[in-house]
Amino acid sequence: MGRGRKVNLVASFSAYLSRLTFLLVILIVMGCTILPIRVAIVFTPTPFPSLTPTLTLSATPTSILFPTVTRFPSATPTFTPFPAPTRLPSVTPTSTPFPTVTPVPSPTFTATPSPQIKYVVIISLDGLRPDALEQANTPILDDLRTKGAYSAAAKSVLPSVTLVNHASMLGGMSPTKHGIYWNEDNPNLGLINGPTLFSVAHQAGLSTAMIVGKSKFRHLVLPDSVDIYDLAGYFDRQVVNHALKVIQAGLPNVLFIHLPNIDSTGHALGWMSPGQLLAIYEADSLVGEIVTALDEGHYLNQTLLIITADHGGNGLKHGSDSVEDTTVPWLAIGTGVPPRILKTHPVMYDTAATALYALKLPIPPEWDGRPILEIFEK
Ligand SMILES: [Zn+2]
Repeated sequence: MGRGRKVNLVASFSAYLSRLTFLLVILIVMGCTILPIRVAIVFTPTPFPSLTPTLTLSATPTSILFPTVTRFPSATPTFTPFPAPTRLPSVTPTSTPFPTVTPVPSPTFTATPSPQIKYVVIISLDGLRPDALEQANTPILDDLRTKGAYSAAAKSVLPSVTLVNHASMLGGMSPTKHGIYWNEDNPNLGLINGPTLFSVAHQAGLSTAMIVGKSKFRHLVLPDSVDIYDLAGYFDRQVVNHALKVIQAGLPNVLFIHLPNIDSTGHALGWMSPGQLLAIYEADSLVGEIVTALDEGHYLNQTLLIITADHGGNGLKHGSDSVEDTTVPWLAIGTGVPPRILKTHPVMYDTAATALYALKLPIPPEWDGRPILEIFEK
């Protein structure tokens, strides 16, 4: 009896053991099949398109390590240092090299643009200070500077913020005339007062495009003035990817490319910080990709390329009338533009005028901007 019970106990214990083993096997099998699926679900489709090999090569930590847009304050339209129209200080910058407006082109000019120029490409490196350009590792821009006309003392208009200055850069006028006194994306605030570089070029039958990294640029797009308006994303890599596609599909006569990351890293990590210098290094290699695309499309000998910025910065911000906030680099490269350090220091609105002049288009009489003729002097 006692022995029989013992046998029974042993039998039920071994049955229990075999059930436990079976369960364990099931669990292991499930673990092997389900876990990889879960891992795969977690790791497969990254929503950020910027993970291309070139990004890794250019050693920029901004997009790789911090892939969330929210990390960069100025990538969102919340950054509004000058929201009210009444706060707009002096309209014109103190140094105005060309106070009066004369019709262009005119035979009195000693410097004429090359008749070959059919395209103008403007690259704006948002927030780039000329002294940051000196400190950062920028092999491409260093090389371009040996081939073009350069000023390290171009001036922003006031307030020294992104939208106000791009309105001048592309609209040829001081803020009182172009009417963009705000720095946010706000559909209630309307559009720039024209004419703009794009509206003049488009009316003359030329094709135009804007590839930008901030949504507020739509305030600068007048009806029937920009053939391709592309908010490519909030990272330089995304903007340049789209710009390369546009160039490869056929370079528009006027192409504006806006790279936002130098400004974003300035707001997040500080102007002149190692992080911002790294962002400048990345922008440098991306400028190289744009130039390569222009070269491969055989556009370079017909193109005036202007590389500049909208404003500088200091600490984590900009917007003041300080030298740090209002001094920007300005570089023109192209056929008939000999290498030189410019004696003329362009004001923000001179970029649009120089672009129209290079394209042999008339400069609107109401514009403040004057072409930087010195770049065409032999
Ligand atoms: Zn900014």
